[in-house]
Amino acid sequence: MSRTGPGGLSPFERLRSRFEDQDLVCPKCGYDDADGRWLAATTGDQIQYRHLCPSCGHIRRRTFHLGGE
Ligand SMILES: [Zn+2]
Repeated sequence: MSRTGPGGLSPFERLRSRFEDQDLVCPKCGYDDADGRWLAATTGDQIQYRHLCPSCGHIRRRTFHLGGE
């Protein structure tokens, strides 16, 4: 469960840091939520990301699977 990758970061942290740098623009209203972030919740071997647009309230969700090797 807590295997670390080549960079010393867990898969969760690698994914998270990659995510937080991008894609904070709402596809619905075009608002750039530069101060916002994706909120992550882990459920077993999955990570669920959620971003709430502060402008229009649109919620985006993404699910990633960990491991699988
Ligand atoms: Zn929006």
